[in-house]
Amino acid sequence: MEKILCVYCGDLFDPSPRHKDQTACKKVECQRAKKAAWQRHKIKTDPDYRFNQKVCQRRWTEVHPGYWQEYRKRNPEKVERNVILQAIRNRRARSKGGDEKMDLFPIAKMDASKHDNFEVLGQFWMVPVIAKMDALKVNLLKIPVLYP
Ligand SMILES: [Zn+2]
Repeated sequence: MEKILCVYCGDLFDPSPRHKDQTACKKVECQRAKKAAWQRHKIKTDPDYRFNQKVCQRRWTEVHPGYWQEYRKRNPEKVERNVILQAIRNRRARSKGGDEKMDLFPIAKMDASKHDNFEVLGQFWMVPVIAKMDALKVNLLKIPVLYP
C-alpha cells in the first residue's frame, strides 16, 4: 500500500488497511492533535456534546480547586495570549451584536493601565482573521540607528 502524508507532522506513514481516510500517523502527539481537532469540531457543531463538555469541565474544576490559578501563575505567557485572544473574541462578538451579553458577563478586565507614550515594541500575537491558522507569537524590537 502506498504511504500517505500525516497532516500533523508531515511524515509519510503506512496507512492501516482497516482504517479508511487516515490523516494522522501513529505518533502519540499526532494522535493527540487529531483528537483535539476532532473535539474542537465537535464542540463547534454539536450542542449536546458542547453542553456535556462544559458540565464535565465544571465538575473537574470543582474537584481540583485552585488548579487554574496555579496554571496561570506557572504560565504567564498563556495568560497574556488569552487576554489578547479574548479581546479579539469580544470585538467579534460585539460586531455580531452581542453587546448585551458582553455587558452582563464581562470576561476580561478591560481597564488595564494606559500609556501615553505607547510604542509598538514587545511581544505580540499575530492572529489570523480570515484563514484558520494558529496564532503566531512575534517580537517587535527597536533596532538602534548605528550611523545616523
Ligand atoms: Zn504524524
